[in-house]
Amino acid sequence: MINIAIDGPSGAGKSTVAKLVAKKLGITYLDTGAMYRACALYFMRRGIGADDERAIKKMLPDVEISFTGEGEEKKVLLCGEDVSRAIREHAVSKAASDISKLPCVRDFLVASQRKIAACSDVVLDGRDITSNVLPHAEFKFYLTASVQVRAVRRYKELQARGENIEFDKIKADIEDRDRNDMQRAYAPLVRTPDSVYIDSGDMTAEQVAQFITDKVKAKNKN
Ligand code: C5P
Repeated sequence: MINIAIDGPSGAGKSTVAKLVAKKLGITYLDTGAMYRACALYFMRRGIGADDERAIKKMLPDVEISFTGEGEEKKVLLCGEDVSRAIREHAVSKAASDISKLPCVRDFLVASQRKIAACSDVVLDGRDITSNVLPHAEFKFYLTASVQVRAVRRYKELQARGENIEFDKIKADIEDRDRNDMQRAYAPLVRTPDSVYIDSGDMTAEQVAQFITDKVKAKNKN
């Protein structure tokens, strides 16, 4: 099985890169962030905040997250409903970051991530893949860029989708999410010593994807 683990902070370009890598290698892409987002959306819609751990724990078994299609057609389903667009809204980013602190949520999602990785060639991106989900993955990468670069990318992305949010707010939210992700007690974002470090600041997503693909191909040749 090929397991490629990519971690890094919000807006580093992980999902764009992971999608390209999956396409180049003809393997599956698993967007673990989408799973946290879908889970957050489920509780947001029911007016349950991340501080209500008891209610969340009780209702988690009802949260059904699945994926259909491949490539650009890939969709995220929440209890059968296509939520691919809804989970990308700005408010859901914050809710996902908040809910991802809860050990019950992480354990629930990590179990299904490991199950998928055990039976398919897959590239996964997230925050705790190299350190916690698949610590023994053969290929591990840490993809990052400065806060400024990441905020500009997110700003353009949201603008293209018609969400007009001030640049300064986006930048502050990214810093906030970095703090959340790196400082949470349970499975925080860390750069593991055996991960290849990539700063995507001066690289296109295509260049990063090619770099990763070359590394995988080179190792598989030996
Ligand atoms: O990657 P994305 O920005 O879509 O992830 C949304 C949120 O889900 C992140 O801010 C992070 O808090 C959480 N997450 C996580 N662990 C992962 C993937 C995402 O905690 N493996």
